[in-house]
Amino acid sequence: MNISITKTTQPKEKPDVNKLGFGRYFTDHMFIMDYEKGKGWHNPRIVPYGPLSLDPSTMIFHYGQGIFEGLKAYKTDDNRVLLFRPEKNLERANISNDRLCIPPIDEEFALKAIKELIKLEKDWIPDAKDTSLYIRPFIISTDPYIGVKPSSTYMFIVILSPVGPYYPEGLDPVKIYVEDEYVRAVRGGIGFAKTLGNYAASIKAQEKAANLGYTQVLWLDGIEMKYVEEVGTMNVFFKIDGEVVTPALNGSILAGVTRDSVIQLLKSWNVTVVERQIAIHEVIDAHKNGKLEEIFGTGTAAVISPVGELNYHGEKLIINGGNIGEMSQKLYDSITGIQTGRLPDNMGWTQEV
Ligand SMILES: *Cc1c(COP(=O)(O)O)cnc(C)c1O
Repeated sequence: MNISITKTTQPKEKPDVNKLGFGRYFTDHMFIMDYEKGKGWHNPRIVPYGPLSLDPSTMIFHYGQGIFEGLKAYKTDDNRVLLFRPEKNLERANISNDRLCIPPIDEEFALKAIKELIKLEKDWIPDAKDTSLYIRPFIISTDPYIGVKPSSTYMFIVILSPVGPYYPEGLDPVKIYVEDEYVRAVRGGIGFAKTLGNYAASIKAQEKAANLGYTQVLWLDGIEMKYVEEVGTMNVFFKIDGEVVTPALNGSILAGVTRDSVIQLLKSWNVTVVERQIAIHEVIDAHKNGKLEEIFGTGTAAVISPVGELNYHGEKLIINGGNIGEMSQKLYDSITGIQTGRLPDNMGWTQEV
């Protein structure tokens, strides 16, 4: 398939790289391709960024049959553009697609399309410290139809956003509220898919935590509300007594690319990493016994997000004196170093655009 390109006649002014925030600015172009039953994915095109025109009955508005991904492009000091393990995102897109009854995309072609779009928008990639170009591929169901069934038409769209740090705190430790009323996902549900409904389900708890002065929530399992699942939209790691523990992928947890990268890096440093069930009470007991050394979240947006405080039922646990742990800092430096080409990529994780 050939990707047609229609260039914008009205390029936008680029935002101040020191005031980017996250996900507020979008580049001049976007990629779109369509799906129709019998025809497959077709008409791949790069067009000027702009509003979509969709019938009010379009299924995505009503039933949320859609998926998304999130990855970043980084500019190196010698002006090359790197992607970090993008094949993992496209592989996961198809895992999400399968759960949502969306037809699979050709992962190689989708990666080629993303690279084409980034090449065209190269000047939009910020190069200030802790900035990057966030890439948001997503798929929406587009049949104009009111009724719950798989759509027979879809759109695959990729938009790009120059971004700074995800949290205003940057790498400063965040305060986390352990949510004991609302749940994010349950076994058999859609927690392992990057799909719209999971985030809609999370907003209420996020609001509650924010009103109490917390940045994110720590989710517990949806059945017993006993085992740790994720922190906000990040996977979570605990360093207890020299060992690192992260919840095992159990069907309700999103399998993060950053999570996998952290596990592989720690193993390469001969740190013991265990993927298993971990009860919130184990975390609290470890804190009481002085063995809880660090907690950190992992995700593309923030990379590593150290946790400085946990609030569980009103009890406040201060982690590592509220400071960044040594391991969190080392992981952050290593991963961002590889992503930006400042450190050698011994893992073979980056791809040049
Ligand atoms: C995207 C996401 C993550 C992090 O995944 P990465 O591939 O590391 O960015 C973790 N949890 C949830 C719920 C997510 O949506």
